[in-house]
Amino acid sequence: MSAASLSLSAQPVLEVNDLRKHFAVAGGGPGRAAGLLRAVDGVSFSLARGETLSLVGESGCGKSTVAKTILRLLAPTSGQVVLAGRRIDDLTLSRLRPLRRRIQMVFQDPFSSLNPRMPVRDSIAEPIRNFRLARGRSDLEARLLRLMDRVGLPADALGRYPHEFSGGQRQRIGIARALAAEPDVIVCDEAVSALDVSVKAQIVNLLMDLQKDHGIALLFISHDLAVVEHMTHHVAVMYLGRIVETGSREALFETPRHPYTRALLSAVPVPEPAANRARIVLKGDVPSPIAPPAGCSFHTRCPSCIERCRTEEPPLTALPGGGAVACHLAGAEGAAHA
Ligand code: SF4
Repeated sequence: MSAASLSLSAQPVLEVNDLRKHFAVAGGGPGRAAGLLRAVDGVSFSLARGETLSLVGESGCGKSTVAKTILRLLAPTSGQVVLAGRRIDDLTLSRLRPLRRRIQMVFQDPFSSLNPRMPVRDSIAEPIRNFRLARGRSDLEARLLRLMDRVGLPADALGRYPHEFSGGQRQRIGIARALAAEPDVIVCDEAVSALDVSVKAQIVNLLMDLQKDHGIALLFISHDLAVVEHMTHHVAVMYLGRIVETGSREALFETPRHPYTRALLSAVPVPEPAANRARIVLKGDVPSPIAPPAGCSFHTRCPSCIERCRTEEPPLTALPGGGAVACHLAGAEGAAHA
């Protein structure tokens, strides 16, 4: 399926088309053939200004590799990444550098982006200096103070070091650093996963406010569907390096079509105990992406598996009301809710 048919908006700021990231894996001994780990295997989506797309799935499904490949922290094996109308996957790193301003990342562990030996001021000023965004010292200072205010930290935080802050405060610093570059897109890779529930909600609300005020597009990578349900516009569910279902938040949470999506959703607690979804416990572990199962890659764990699923791979097929699903039974009434 092409990115166009998975398009979530008429004017995307980020388009990803048939993205692949494969890793060569050494063989098991002399003379043994090396394998190929297909971490990302043909992922397409688009994202508009002011919208959030959440990439969800179990750990190891390839969602973080998608993020790293889009940002060129990993070189793509093939496929296209188009940022604000400009193809960036084939640029040399020096030609990519000025465009890096437009797409920023917030990591699960803010220490990944904050130098522990650098005061917060220098960490946040770095992108402003690198991309020459400030006109002189007083403009730089004014920008730093505005950023602190924007993410809810006191001005004196600028003079302190990352270890002096709580996890939630460090994540605010990470967001301020991302925001300092005035990006079009922020990629949040499990950005709230390590936080306590109440702090998690505060950071999600901050991201939503920033999106509303600045029209930023968010690519939100998470295994936590309870958070995703609260804040996303669109969802793409990944399994073994591929998108198996995509759709609007409403469609996906209310009428999930893929058995894997239904299993993930069944584990999400709902506020009304009587309305709890029946828990679907998947058998076994996620298969190795070095040797994915033939046919539908989910068939080894799927409670609805039929004979055809073992040999025939279901294509990602557009649904009449929007979204898409890769399942032989998705069109069969009843099977989709088995
Ligand atoms: Fe399950 Fe078959 Fe659908 Fe795959 S194609 S998700 S195995 S029912």
